[in-house]
Amino acid sequence: MSPAAAHTDIAVVGAGILGVLTAREILARAPGTSVTLLDRDLIGSGATRRSAGLHFPRGASATTRELAAESQRFYADLHAARPDLPIHPLEMTVLAPLASEPALREAYLPEAKLRPVEELPPQVPALPAGYGLWEGDGCQYADVQGLAQQLAADLRPAVAFREGVAVTALEPGPDEVRLTLSGGAALTAGHVVLAPGPWLAEPAWAALLAPLGARVKKIVALHVDVAPAPGDRAIVFHDEDAFLLPFHHRGHWLFSYTCQEWDVDPATVHPEVRAGHLDEARALLRRYAPDLAAACASGRVFCDAYGPRGTALVEALAGGRIVFAGAAGGSGYRLAPALAARAADLIPALPRPRKATT
Ligand SMILES: Cc1cc2nc3c(=O)[nH]c(=O)nc-3n(C[C@H](O)[C@H](O)[C@H](O)COP(=O)(O)OP(=O)(O)OC[C@H]3O[C@@H](n4cnc5c(N)ncnc54)[C@H](O)[C@@H]3O)c2cc1C
Repeated sequence: MSPAAAHTDIAVVGAGILGVLTAREILARAPGTSVTLLDRDLIGSGATRRSAGLHFPRGASATTRELAAESQRFYADLHAARPDLPIHPLEMTVLAPLASEPALREAYLPEAKLRPVEELPPQVPALPAGYGLWEGDGCQYADVQGLAQQLAADLRPAVAFREGVAVTALEPGPDEVRLTLSGGAALTAGHVVLAPGPWLAEPAWAALLAPLGARVKKIVALHVDVAPAPGDRAIVFHDEDAFLLPFHHRGHWLFSYTCQEWDVDPATVHPEVRAGHLDEARALLRRYAPDLAAACASGRVFCDAYGPRGTALVEALAGGRIVFAGAAGGSGYRLAPALAARAADLIPALPRPRKATT
């Protein structure tokens, strides 16, 4: 006879930035709740590990802008309360055709206070004809893996962590969900929050998630072998959905551009930067910052889940016992606090403050 399964009030599956913030949010709302956070790897080893970690105050849709604004307030409060955490406020310059100004004004949050500027960033020797520059407030970047690990360490006394433990099956019932774990053990949970990052196709939940219509896309960010100077700003290329980020904590710049390789699998995606990635990225960067383009030779490659129409997903499934959160489409750091709060909103036993809790 198999041993009785252990029980937890809420199991959070996936200990990336979203799973960690969800566990934190649950305990902030209901401190006595028993929470188990499971990951088949170590905390912060998924998309979180390779994240560029840029937050900029914008969103392509009203929903994303709402999530971004809520998350921005959360991170600002967290940075104020815990300046030791690896969150680094940053100045921001946006570069775009002048004709894109109405689109910029719609996409950026009012909190960004977007305003035109004349002065070129030192990395951009000249603007293409018909282009303008704007600066705005509210930008920051983080070492996302370090942040997830430090926040998880704070949670250790209150959360049961199960690292190196994969969930291999999920069986929702009327009163609880049964999770089968690698190694043959089982866990029952009143509710399960699934925060699997790009691992949408895991056998335990592939069929459950398929109707959500999320897909997985490769993300490539190149490392630029040039040291940022103190005070260097993030430079956002609005129309190309690309950015340059002074990675002060690592001593080099990072250039993120939009790679269009869809339907990749996190289990098999190659972490190497390919010649095609370098060619695409350099061609774009050469238009604006030729010296930095010449210094791109390496980088980071992984993938992320994207919701339909580019909007992140927080959905109650299996009669409400399972909540899926994620598919933030390359913005899973900057939207994570608001997604964690919405996931907690869908667990009926938890109280519902309307603001993400720091
Ligand atoms: C190169 C790159 C650059 C990026 N830059 C930015 C950026 O500048 N700004 C931004 O906001 N976002 C950025 N992102 C996106 C962001 O990093 C992700 O959206 C975010 O980290 C996702 O976090 P998560 O917790 O949802 O998922 P993940 O961090 O992927 O965590 C999911 C976890 O689930 C675990 N798991 C999977 N299957 C199982 C299973 N069967 N059992 C148990 N555990 C399982 C995995 O091991 C993993 O640890 C970037 C992503 C990449 C790859």
